[in-house]
Amino acid sequence: MPDIMQMGVRQIREGLAEGEFSAREVARAALDAIAERDGSVHAFLEITESQALEAADRVDAAAAQRALDELGPLAGVPVAFKDNMNQEGTHTTCSSRMLESYVSPYTATCVQRAIDAGGIPLGKLNMDEFAFGSSTETSAFGPTRNPWDLERVPGGSSGGSAAAVAAGMACVTLGSDTGGSIRQPASFCGVVGVKPTYGMVSRYGVVAFGSSLDQVGPFARSVEDAAWALQAICGHDPRDCTSQDLDIDFLSAVREGAQSIRGMRVGIVKEFLEAKGLSDEVREKIQEATGKLCDAGAEIVEVQLPHADAAISAYYVLGPCEAFSNLARFDSVRYGLADHGHKDLSGQYEASRAAGFGAEAKRRILLGSYLLSAGVYDTYYYPAQQVRTLITRDYVQAFEKCDAILAPASPRTAFKFGEISDPAQMYLSDIFTVPINIAGNGGMTVPVGLGSQTGLPVGVQIIAPQFKDANMLRVAAALEQAYGTASVAPEFAGEKAGE
Ligand code: GLN
Repeated sequence: MPDIMQMGVRQIREGLAEGEFSAREVARAALDAIAERDGSVHAFLEITESQALEAADRVDAAAAQRALDELGPLAGVPVAFKDNMNQEGTHTTCSSRMLESYVSPYTATCVQRAIDAGGIPLGKLNMDEFAFGSSTETSAFGPTRNPWDLERVPGGSSGGSAAAVAAGMACVTLGSDTGGSIRQPASFCGVVGVKPTYGMVSRYGVVAFGSSLDQVGPFARSVEDAAWALQAICGHDPRDCTSQDLDIDFLSAVREGAQSIRGMRVGIVKEFLEAKGLSDEVREKIQEATGKLCDAGAEIVEVQLPHADAAISAYYVLGPCEAFSNLARFDSVRYGLADHGHKDLSGQYEASRAAGFGAEAKRRILLGSYLLSAGVYDTYYYPAQQVRTLITRDYVQAFEKCDAILAPASPRTAFKFGEISDPAQMYLSDIFTVPINIAGNGGMTVPVGLGSQTGLPVGVQIIAPQFKDANMLRVAAALEQAYGTASVAPEFAGEKAGE
């Protein structure tokens, strides 16, 4: 039998429909792959074996009745969720000591939809603590390692979600992206990662970082698999008033991909390519990808984003301010590490927060509380909101001239553990991803092969006009056709992995 863990959504569905294998066998293969590989990768914080087997039995029952289509787009597909997504009965720790013993009493809409669509839920995935970070090194439970090079970070904050897919331990995973946390790890791990337009996916049940910036999206090894996942999780949810129904046919966009790119206008931003800190190998890949899109019949146009320079500063004001407000609930009374050995409430708060939060979470909370304090917020918070308007307008104007923008995802390939120890340096690595969250647009990463200097995966970012996420899937499909579909990282794809 071919290796189930290297299959995509369509192959799994066909295999199930034709009775080549059962969903139970798929679930077993995934659980075995995790048992065998996760000791070295550490993508999972919790494995939900009984939920996986139960879901598999539901799929097998549907297959027996020839009702797989009714089940939904992810029938029999091994899925897993970032640990900031509530799933009833699982721990949802956000990789923080603060929530180490918290068990979800309910399920996030995105998780529920993936399960209702037939997904086999394997478990919860490691992340930077409360999604603060770009490397998964801030997890209180130890970092995740990059399946392409175990000495290197997988990116972050959804590092576990990216690594699980890259190591062939899941077919589709969900992550969240507040400033790049889907797109950057997808780039580091050589997989597809989609951050939809703000409002496409419900945030209900996802622990909030920056409520006006957060968006859930899928990781997968192919653009088509990501489209199946989007088909499952997108749409209005009465429990999240910012979510919308758009009825986008993601799959048709992918199928038309390579053909429909003919005549599409793809924007290039000169300033991005000249940005300080952009490595040569990433620049080369952007140029090469531009050439491939041109060959496929796209029209390449130059566009301007005049306020791009201000995006990082605006993000590192707005992000911490929203995080500070959102994290106020972790006070050991409503949520959080209970420590009741204190005479007064403020002593209890202090002890709980001192022990519960790691250094980066404390940094963000302190920053947010300072930035929002009387006399300070008009100097930082208001101007940052004004910059947000300018950046949003830049994108609206740029998209008058093009249908999608091609940009770097990360300035460089995966770095080594501990290599970036200065927080400000780490923040700078988000330079190409944060503007998209500020403007609310959709952005996705698609792998374009290995860098000429480091030999590690490089992803390029495609950005779409708001709610025209199908545009970026078309461009991604065309690039995938030119570069080939992403595969499981070599260390986990061959005989070494026991196949
Ligand atoms: N790296 C960015 C940060 O640390 C983005 C994180 C995210 O998207 N969750 O804030």
